[in-house]
Amino acid sequence: MLDIKLEDIVSLCKRRGFLYQGSEIYGGLSGTWDLGPLGVQLKRNILQSWWQTFVEKRSDIYGLDSAILMNPQVWQASGHLEGFVDPIVKDQVTKIDYRADHLLEDQGFEVEGLNLKELQSLIDDNQIKSPDSNPLSRLNQFNLMFQTRIGAQDERAQTVYLRPETAQGIFVNFKNLIDSFQPDLPFGIAQIGKAFRNEISPRDFVFRSREFEMLEIEYFCPPSQWQTIFDQIKIDLNDWLVSLGISLDSLTELEVPESERAHYSQRTIDMQFAFPFGEKELYGLAYRGDYDLRQHQDLSGKSLEYIDKKTQSKFLPVCIEPSIGVERLLLAVLQSAYKVDEENKRVYLALPAGLAPIKYAVSPLVNNKADLITKALTVFKNLQAKYGCVVWDDHGNIGKRYRRQDEVGTPACIVIDFQTLEDDTVTVRSRDDLQQKRLKISAL
Ligand code: ATP
Repeated sequence: MLDIKLEDIVSLCKRRGFLYQGSEIYGGLSGTWDLGPLGVQLKRNILQSWWQTFVEKRSDIYGLDSAILMNPQVWQASGHLEGFVDPIVKDQVTKIDYRADHLLEDQGFEVEGLNLKELQSLIDDNQIKSPDSNPLSRLNQFNLMFQTRIGAQDERAQTVYLRPETAQGIFVNFKNLIDSFQPDLPFGIAQIGKAFRNEISPRDFVFRSREFEMLEIEYFCPPSQWQTIFDQIKIDLNDWLVSLGISLDSLTELEVPESERAHYSQRTIDMQFAFPFGEKELYGLAYRGDYDLRQHQDLSGKSLEYIDKKTQSKFLPVCIEPSIGVERLLLAVLQSAYKVDEENKRVYLALPAGLAPIKYAVSPLVNNKADLITKALTVFKNLQAKYGCVVWDDHGNIGKRYRRQDEVGTPACIVIDFQTLEDDTVTVRSRDDLQQKRLKISAL
C-alpha cells in the first residue's frame, strides 16, 4: 500500500468536509469528532452496506436497535462494572493520567501479554518517566464507563452508564427475540449504535475516540459448532472489508493471548489494519461462550435457555461476536482509497462507487450561457431524482472541478457542452482512468 501520512488524510478530511474536531470553536473536546456532509454520507453508505450484507440479505440474522441507557444491573451482570478497566499512572508533577501500557509501548517496551503485576514491575525496574520526564504514581485501575444520573438530582436519582458496547442490548433482548420469532439455532442478532468509553488518552485521529459507533453481531450456536462458525464469520467479514476497497494485504490477524483477553472471552482475534501509525485493531472477533447469557440469567432470575425444537432439550447457546468500530473503518476506507497520481498531479479517492458520498458531479462547460445552464440543470435534476447524492458544480474551470471531485472520490463528472444542445450527448469523465466518453443523456 502507498506510504500515506496520517496528516494527509486528516487535512483532506477537514478541508473537504469529511471530519471536523468536535466542538472546534471552543478548542475542541478531546476524543470527539463531528462528521461533515461528505463524512456522514460515507459513513451511512458503509453502515447501509453492512446492514444489507449481514441483516437484509441473510435469513439467520435479525436486526435490533436497543436503548443506550440500560438498567445498571446489566453492567453488573456483564462484568463491566468490575472488569472494564485500563491500567493508569499519574504524572506526579503535572497530575496528567496516562495509560501505563501505552506509555511503555511508546518507550519501546513489549507489553503484549503482561498482567498488571508485570506492568508494575516494568515501571518500577526501568524507572519509566512520564512524557515530561516526571516520576509516575503506582498503577491504578480506571473504569472506562461514563456515568450519569437518571431522574431528579436527589437521593432517588440512579447512577446509570453510557454503554461501552452495544452487545449487552442484544443479550438482554435474547429472550424477546426467541419469543417473537422462534428462530432455529444458529442465528444472530445485529445492532449498529453509539458506544462511549472514557479513554484516558484518545489519539490517532478518530482511531481512539470517546464516542464512537459500533457494528456488532452476537451469533448464537450450540457449543459444538462454535469453531466452524468463528472461522466462517471471519471469512464473511473480510470479504465485506474487501468490498469496501480494503485489501487483504493490509490486514494481519493477531491471536490475543489469554492474559490480554476481555473478561468474557475464551478466544479473541484482533484483525489489525496497517494504519499510518502502525498495525492496530480494526475489528475484534471474540468467542464469548455462554458467559453473557448465563450472567444475565443468574442476576435477573429469568431463564434464557433455548429449547431445541426437535429434542426439547434446554441449554444456553454459546456466542461469537464480530465487533467493529465505524470510525476506525472510515479511516481504513479513506486510507485504502487515497491515491496520489504524480503524472497528472492529483490526489484522488478511489472509493467503490457504492461508498462514494457523491455519485455524479454535473457541470455546464461554461457558466454564462443560459441555454447551456438550463440544459445542464435538467440533466442534474433528473440524475439527482434517480440516484440522490448528485452535485451541481460550476465553480472555476473544468480542470479545477475535476480535481475537486477526484479528491472526494466522485466516480464520474458529467459535462454539458454546446454539442449537447445539438445531439443530447454529454461528456462523462471517469475518476480512475481519466477516460472521457460521449454518451446519450438517455444512456446515463
Ligand atoms: P483497543 O484494544 O484498541 O482499545 P478494544 O479491544 O478495547 O480496542 P473492543 O472492545 O474489541 O476494542 O471493541 C470492538 C471494536 O470497537 C474495536 O475493534 C474498534 O473497531 C472499536 N473501538 C473500540 N474502542 C474504540 C475507541 N475508543 N474509538 C474508536 N473505536 C473503538
